[in-house]
Amino acid sequence: MDKHYYTLNDFYRKKFGCKIVKLSLDANFTCPNIDGTKGVGGCIFCSKTPYIGDKNDDIIVQIEKMKKLLSNKWKNPKYILYFEAGTNTYASVDKLKEIYEPILKISDVVGINIGTRCDCLDEEVLSYLKDLSKRTYLTVELGLQSCHDKTLKSINRNHTRDEFTHAVKKLKNLGIDIVVHIINGLPNETPKMMIDTAKYVNSLGISGIKIHMLYIEKDTKFYNIYENYPFKLLTEKDYITIVAKQLQYLDKNIVIHRIISNPDLKKLYKPEWLVGKFTLLNKIDRYLIDNDIYQGDYAGRNISME
Ligand code: SF4
Repeated sequence: MDKHYYTLNDFYRKKFGCKIVKLSLDANFTCPNIDGTKGVGGCIFCSKTPYIGDKNDDIIVQIEKMKKLLSNKWKNPKYILYFEAGTNTYASVDKLKEIYEPILKISDVVGINIGTRCDCLDEEVLSYLKDLSKRTYLTVELGLQSCHDKTLKSINRNHTRDEFTHAVKKLKNLGIDIVVHIINGLPNETPKMMIDTAKYVNSLGISGIKIHMLYIEKDTKFYNIYENYPFKLLTEKDYITIVAKQLQYLDKNIVIHRIISNPDLKKLYKPEWLVGKFTLLNKIDRYLIDNDIYQGDYAGRNISME
């Protein structure tokens, strides 16, 4: 069935003309929102555990192990390396070079995605990222989660929407592709607030978005928070309706890197409906088709967020 939104696979096929496999790596970065520089304890939902091997493996070993693990799935794919855990520009430029330079020499690696925070992009780091972007396909992934300052405060992000806007402008001036992460279902957010976040992201002129559903994993700090102060999680139906509306406000050229969350099912506590990833994706597609909804339906309009 044809998708009514611009998928990452479509984008990669157009850009690289071959199968692209993304490898999630862990360079052992911490985060200024964990170590006390900006905050302590991190964002309430932070889990920081994407790499499935030994975290002490160096990056080259991690890449080889991941490639081996996936070797039966695709024949001669190219790879994009995704530095997901922690804040992957939170170090001196010398340290960043130690991590990122060796991987540029791997012939089947065609790009690097660096996940970071909007407040970890000083001039020196930006200058290095610009240099990197001339030598590989570089994408910087920035967590925003919500465009509402009161939500950012309540989830302990420790940055504001204005700081985020400022960082995006700087990256855009350098011609670097930006992917923004947002989360639906954050505590005390209404559907309108979530849709306003999509409108705000659209106004930034970024190249991609990851749309997540808030979920809770067992034995985490967030699990304890939820147990003590339970709040209403979105139903599957609510989520599908909100995502469909968000897509309508996103320009057709924004690549939808993710439209649902991908939790570790062994750890997932709530919502239970996130368990069936492919069923959910199909339900979203079906809803878009049945209601004749396409990404970008409203994106060209003069959008008011209030
Ligand atoms: S910014 Fe990212 S790594 Fe840091 S605490 Fe928040 S979610 Fe975790």
